[in-house]
Amino acid sequence: MKRRPANVTDAPPAGAVFAPFDHQPRTRLVFGPGQAERAGDLARQIGVKKVLLVTDAGVVAAGHAERVGRSLRAARVKIVVFDKVRENPTARDVAACLKAARAAGIDGFIGLGGGSSLDTAKGCNFLLTNGGRMQDYRGVGKATRPMLPLMAIPTTAGTGSECQSFALIADETTHQKMACGDPKAAARVAILDPLLTLSQPPRVAACAGVDALSHALETAVTKPRNPVSLAYSREAFRLCWSNMPHVLQRPDDLDARAGMLLGAALAGLAIENSMLGAAHAAANPLSAHFNLVHGQAIGLMLPHVLRFNGRNPAAARLYASLDSSNADQLADQLESLLDLAGMPRSLSQCGVKQSSIPMLAREAAQQWTASFNPRPVAATDFERLFQAAWEITK
Ligand SMILES: [Zn+2]
Repeated sequence: MKRRPANVTDAPPAGAVFAPFDHQPRTRLVFGPGQAERAGDLARQIGVKKVLLVTDAGVVAAGHAERVGRSLRAARVKIVVFDKVRENPTARDVAACLKAARAAGIDGFIGLGGGSSLDTAKGCNFLLTNGGRMQDYRGVGKATRPMLPLMAIPTTAGTGSECQSFALIADETTHQKMACGDPKAAARVAILDPLLTLSQPPRVAACAGVDALSHALETAVTKPRNPVSLAYSREAFRLCWSNMPHVLQRPDDLDARAGMLLGAALAGLAIENSMLGAAHAAANPLSAHFNLVHGQAIGLMLPHVLRFNGRNPAAARLYASLDSSNADQLADQLESLLDLAGMPRSLSQCGVKQSSIPMLAREAAQQWTASFNPRPVAATDFERLFQAAWEITK
């Protein structure tokens, strides 16, 4: 369906360009190939002597846990491995990690892996230090006691969780993702070592990359955006947009991997300042009810959200400032990239029933992230977005 191009000449709303901000960088970033070798020294620097390494079986099989473990042992940091992290971690997954943390008597955490490992480590840190249940920490700033130091070592270029104070943990019963945030939950150090991301299987790299790109695009236009978040969003977009095709076509290209890893981290910093928007609000119920991987659900919805938000003059101008095209062109280019990545392009291809669209739309409209979207997005708007995403066949 062709839509008329957005009017990008309207003046921005007053105050939108130089919105006030309060930005406190919390995570020391250590970037470069081979920097994971410094894990032991860096753990010592943040005062850790016995650490719980939170990871998954795939990361262990790729040899990353052993690589980091060697560095820790060389620095005389004791290490206990918890390798049972699952995708989209739930409160029950965090409880299993908590049991391991209590039994080990640790004084710090390392999250090694994708966003799920980092979120499980953060979630466990809340419960170990502040008690209670995961549900108690939903929202921002609910932890009253100090938390243990956390080091984040991502092995995928995607969530940017290493640069955020939020743990995303699903509620067992409602299937809803709980965003549990606290400044104390942010990693003290994140090691961004692109060598660790070479082992991402192509499907993982594609889903994670689309997620990182969506973080850059959503944070660039959300209502809480400000000059600092925009700087992060723009550079994150530039890095992810230019490097993702190379990662897809030449998986061994270390420079492209480095660009994606840095882009994903900067997008995480943007989220910390300006939250997310309608694509994330729509993706969560899709993952909850139809088991879609987060990056896949995002890829299905984001082009439609770009076209929808492009009708908002300020958002249209911001999209144009990213890559000098209008929102419709940007959405078309994104769809080409999704094709290159071999990602599904319609909800009907993914087993989503058309009859479930009203329910999905109701749940999407209730998501926290929907409230930050630049253009108001009600359940009826989400119905149209889901319908557009359901129909496409290629
Ligand atoms: Zn995301």
